[in-house]
Amino acid sequence: MASTAVPAAPAPMEGHGAYNRSSGVQAAGSSPALPLIEEAARRVALAEAPEPIVIADYGSSEGRNSLAPIGATIKALRARVGLERTVSVVHTDLPSNDFSVLFQTLETDPASYLRGDPSSFASAVGRSFYGQILPASSVTLGWSSWAVQWLSRTPCPIPDQVQVAYSRDERAYAAFTRQAAADWETFLRHRASELRAGGRLVVLTMALTDAGDFGYRPVLKAMYASLLALVSEGLVRPEEARRMAIPTVGRTRAQFLAPFAATGGFAGLEVEHAEVFLGEDSIWHDFQRDGDAASYGARWAAFSRASVLPTLALGLEGGSADPRHADFVARLEAGMAQRLAAKPEAMVIPLAALVLAKA
Ligand code: SAH
Repeated sequence: MASTAVPAAPAPMEGHGAYNRSSGVQAAGSSPALPLIEEAARRVALAEAPEPIVIADYGSSEGRNSLAPIGATIKALRARVGLERTVSVVHTDLPSNDFSVLFQTLETDPASYLRGDPSSFASAVGRSFYGQILPASSVTLGWSSWAVQWLSRTPCPIPDQVQVAYSRDERAYAAFTRQAAADWETFLRHRASELRAGGRLVVLTMALTDAGDFGYRPVLKAMYASLLALVSEGLVRPEEARRMAIPTVGRTRAQFLAPFAATGGFAGLEVEHAEVFLGEDSIWHDFQRDGDAASYGARWAAFSRASVLPTLALGLEGGSADPRHADFVARLEAGMAQRLAAKPEAMVIPLAALVLAKA
């Protein structure tokens, strides 16, 4: 049945620093959530020394985009507890993540929070955040950005698209919506176990606007058109293309709040802040300034390559070991860059920012 199976879990990002190099959109998108984690750091209840203050970073990828939020969090904590109090930062991601690049980034990036702070320590966990992965009641502050849109599994194939938001298949849409609701509850439940009483979790993730818009329409149009072109060119078989799917979802503000709707709380968590907003499109702004359509296309294609193209490649007969893997990713990226450059448009980037507190 291997030929009809849907990959069970999201693939890793591309690794080898690709995410660190091509995640400027994500960095810009999460910057409005930095004041939320700083505020949480100023107000959160702290354990008595010498117990370390634990900060968890859920879905860190290769770490570059963690440096600003974690650095800002530590700075706000240090203003309260001084320079000697032990702070422990735990970066988490899937086992397949490129943790070597993460550790190199922490060691060598001039913006690393480890610079000049001998009382802060970094470590990592390579396990899915859809389980409990840290000791109960150990985390004071949690941060998760651009990660919880990844589902725990692909619930079913999407026959007419790679992103369910643009599918007309009602069965697929319903299955993804159910999976999204279940995964959000699972994520919350495990974070609730890991947080200390009074601890805070700040979540920044992809969203749907109130009108139900997932955004990224030009990018996804270019991706699907480029995939179909690879089928016509004979690189990809039609049945391979049919099972290629990106298991990410946007959720509406109401869907984020649904677990809390009945009683105001869920698994011991309460919502302190929940907003859906549109992220900055720095690629479009640069295009408006310099008129460089090729650069616009190349940057959105690189964004896609670093975040989702390896997941699509899992639909190839041989999965990540398929001999066409590298060619597939390169030609899909090139096709997208060319199509996007032909007609630059502003991208809608719906994002949600939430602050959850453990009672
Ligand atoms: N936080 C960074 C990186 C986000 S990229 C930023 O804001 O830019 C999304 C990351 O989430 C990827 O590295 C991916 O491997 C990770 N991820 C996806 N599903 C996950 C899961 N179930 N458990 C842990 N990490 C997951």
